[in-house]
Amino acid sequence: MDKKIEAMESQFKEYRLTPQRRLVLEIFLQHRQRHLSAEEVFTFSRARGEEIGLATIYRTLELLEGLGLIHKLNFGDGRSRYEMAHQDLSHHHHHHLVCLGCDEIFEVEDDLLHQLEEVIEQKHGFDIVNHNLQFYGYCSKCQGKEKKARQAPGKED
Ligand SMILES: [Zn+2]
Ligand SMILES: [Zn+2]
Ligand SMILES: [Zn+2]
Repeated sequence: MDKKIEAMESQFKEYRLTPQRRLVLEIFLQHRQRHLSAEEVFTFSRARGEEIGLATIYRTLELLEGLGLIHKLNFGDGRSRYEMAHQDLSHHHHHHLVCLGCDEIFEVEDDLLHQLEEVIEQKHGFDIVNHNLQFYGYCSKCQGKEKKARQAPGKED
């Protein structure tokens, strides 16, 4: 894990890789598949017995985002979340499925939008370099609960 962080050190440019910045990066590396809010980073750092304030975490997240090490995501629930950036910058960002039942975020690697991009480019003479798309709905676990909640009491499927 440390090796990866050392590799990131060059991306810090004129900034120093302070213990706090290292801590935040370690938390993201540990929870690679997660999309963490500042509060969650705070909770995880507390769990490790580290003393780091929420304000410092906010500043650190902004810096790491500015350096391209993490991506800021907005799922419309009023708080920003972050995830590790791909090392390969040419790698297109994956898409997210946001569950409205449990707030879990799932990743979809399939990207069927290139064809759509071509159509839009031709129609509008617009040179598209990227896109951003999120899907909202209910995950497989929450679908069952949704159905039950909608059903009249006593009815089962
Ligand atoms: Zn769910
Ligand atoms: Zn993601
Ligand atoms: Zn895409």
